Amino acid sequence: MNYPAQAAVLRGQSVPMSIEPVIIAKPRFDEVLVKIAGVGVCHTDMVMRDGLLPIPRPVVLGHEGAGRVLAVGSAIDDLAPGDHVALSFSSCGQCPSCDLREPAYCHSWVPLNFFGARADGSTAITAAGGEPVHSHVFGQSSFATHAVVHRRNAVKVDRDLPIELLGPLGCGIMTGAGAVLNALKVRPGSSIAVIGVGAVGLAAVMAARIAGASAIVAIDRHPSRIALARELGATHAVAADGRDIAEIIASLGIAGLDYALDTTGVVPLVEQTISALAPRGEMALVAAFAPGAKVGLDATHVMSGGRVIRGVVEGSADPQTFIPQLLAYHRAGKLPFDRLIKTYPFEDILTAIADGEEGRVVKPVLLMPD
Ligand SMILES: [Zn+2]
Ligand SMILES: [Zn+2]
Repeated sequence: MNYPAQAAVLRGQSVPMSIEPVIIAKPRFDEVLVKIAGVGVCHTDMVMRDGLLPIPRPVVLGHEGAGRVLAVGSAIDDLAPGDHVALSFSSCGQCPSCDLREPAYCHSWVPLNFFGARADGSTAITAAGGEPVHSHVFGQSSFATHAVVHRRNAVKVDRDLPIELLGPLGCGIMTGAGAVLNALKVRPGSSIAVIGVGAVGLAAVMAARIAGASAIVAIDRHPSRIALARELGATHAVAADGRDIAEIIASLGIAGLDYALDTTGVVPLVEQTISALAPRGEMALVAAFAPGAKVGLDATHVMSGGRVIRGVVEGSADPQTFIPQLLAYHRAGKLPFDRLIKTYPFEDILTAIADGEEGRVVKPVLLMPD
């Protein structure tokens, strides 16, 4: 059977998404139907909304969903109706990166996550008038009461956790924490700067503390985020005031950064941060850049000190193992990601998006009606 549902459908470039009745297809043999309990709003949703990442329309965005399994496809024997799942990105499971358990670098990443369809081009959502609506954004399209996802991007989680808040573990929290723990592998006693402390940056700050970094510098233009970064483990939290990042780092008495993480995608900030790296310093770029953005490097600075600049997608994480690891840190009180969250009813999606974009809220999460 197919399932009646509600979804926030985005139809045009300048028309805001609006909640409509839709039909969700029953899961295929390798898919899971999830009743979404809550879904985070991620910056990448806005990048897609604004067409900076081209996505076909009409489409349902949303890629930080979590909820309860309603039905499973015939080939699935390790998930059952009633199980709680956090959703993450999609990957193919058979390319060289997936073979290495690096699904964030799946060779089919773009089609599986950004084409608004399954790998075969079909969608799982139909509008009330019978028109197909693009689905499977990041493998999930969870700005909706229901989502059909591939088994690979549903991660089973314990039922005693507040399922409605777990969706951001599948993107924003994973991106920041994973960049620190999986990609940079921050060493105890080291220094790290996090440029921009929205949800991704604050997750990175918490992870840097878990990793035992001794100097954790958070830089942001929002005073409320600076204050939160300090509470969550930043040893130095600095308001961006137009000063060069390298000047800020030097003013803190840090001779050079062992690690840096850019969450802003602002090219001058990236270039300034590279210049502040210590010998063997390593910098991770995790934000979406404007199409065609170019970063200028002082080649001698990079070469002579053995410095490393690397891109990191989704925290270089395998969600099936990393989300449980993040939840273990959360249970131990080391990753209080719930402190970043403000919840909104689904119908207030446009308010939630605006609050996130204007920096009033770090991580808006939409609560779905039962
Ligand atoms: Zn995201
Ligand atoms: Zn793959």
